[in-house]
Amino acid sequence: MMERTLILIKPDAVQRSLLGEIVGRFERKGLKIIGLKMMELQDAVLEEHYSHLVSKPFFGTIKDFMKSTPIVAMVLEGVDAVDAVRIIVGPTKGRAADAGSIRGDLSMSIQTNCVHASDSIENAKAEVARFFKDDEIFSYQKVDLAFVYSDDELSQ
Ligand code: ADP
Repeated sequence: MMERTLILIKPDAVQRSLLGEIVGRFERKGLKIIGLKMMELQDAVLEEHYSHLVSKPFFGTIKDFMKSTPIVAMVLEGVDAVDAVRIIVGPTKGRAADAGSIRGDLSMSIQTNCVHASDSIENAKAEVARFFKDDEIFSYQKVDLAFVYSDDELSQ
């Protein structure tokens, strides 16, 4: 199924000059970028976005970290994009992530792990709406689609 998912490229990747590297990995995979912007995050949006972590002792440091530079937010589209992107990103702890994944190749940390990616279709819908207005998401024909997928994959 054609899905959308939200990516946040975190301040460690901004500081380490990894924006192009990370955007390029998603592009090369065949995912379509339909939204892309730099933004500063405020406490309120972080408390909503990481609501499952608000009671954790490390929540304060996550908030400070996520506010330490602007981040880059992206909406990616593709067949089964939510799961496909989580595989490309790898598990939370960078030093335990498989080589080949973004976290496995680029991060040693649990906290400074380069990217956020939505973990379910339901969360992806809520997260895309949290970070992007309707007119910041673009609809356009991408000419490589017929080579990224077979016809039957596109008609599912
Ligand atoms: P994921 O980003 O892989 O979906 P979580 O939703 O569990 O993982 O956590 C969100 C983010 O909070 C992580 O990506 C990481 O930046 C931070 N985080 C999670 N667990 C810890 C921890 N034990 N210590 C510090 N930061 C953490």
